[in-house]
Amino acid sequence: MPAVIDLTNSDSDSSEQDIESRSNTVSSEPPNDGPNSSIPKPLVKAVSSVSEKRLREIVLDLAAQVPAAKQFLEQELLVANGAKRPSTVRWETCEKCAEEFDMGEEREDGECVYHPGEMMPDYEEGFVDWDESCHGPVDTEENRRQYPENFIWTCCDELGTASGCVRDEHAPARASRKRARH
Ligand SMILES: [Zn+2]
Ligand SMILES: [Zn+2]
Repeated sequence: MPAVIDLTNSDSDSSEQDIESRSNTVSSEPPNDGPNSSIPKPLVKAVSSVSEKRLREIVLDLAAQVPAAKQFLEQELLVANGAKRPSTVRWETCEKCAEEFDMGEEREDGECVYHPGEMMPDYEEGFVDWDESCHGPVDTEENRRQYPENFIWTCCDELGTASGCVRDEHAPARASRKRARH
């Protein structure tokens, strides 16, 4: 991989200070003109468009080369896991509601709203004019995303657009990811 920015040569001291002062303002008072205001627009654009894989490589390079960046990333991405065990991942995706949540926060009953059942096509009222021979199969993930109003939840008999019928605590999806066949 080509080195995109060489942080070791020129003024690495000032870039460390920048990162430190920014991490301080984030916790106390965010500036009115947005957190990205001090970053040049072309850079913001490049970060938005770069591939996830390359961005991950760059972030790890940054952490390896700039101690303050490593510290900042540890604060943002890790959470202490008790005195004896090492730090663990801070941001997890909930296996129930599929939202990202902060493992560093205390779990709260009702923070997670979801349907434990499945979305089944509503042939009687939803997909009335849908001809599978020309529109394709009804029961697909794409249709669930595109026409949720034409589906019914098996858990509560509500429309696919209805908000979750169960309130619970978020739970990390890691355990079930291991079991899933991929
Ligand atoms: Zn439900
Ligand atoms: Zn959840």
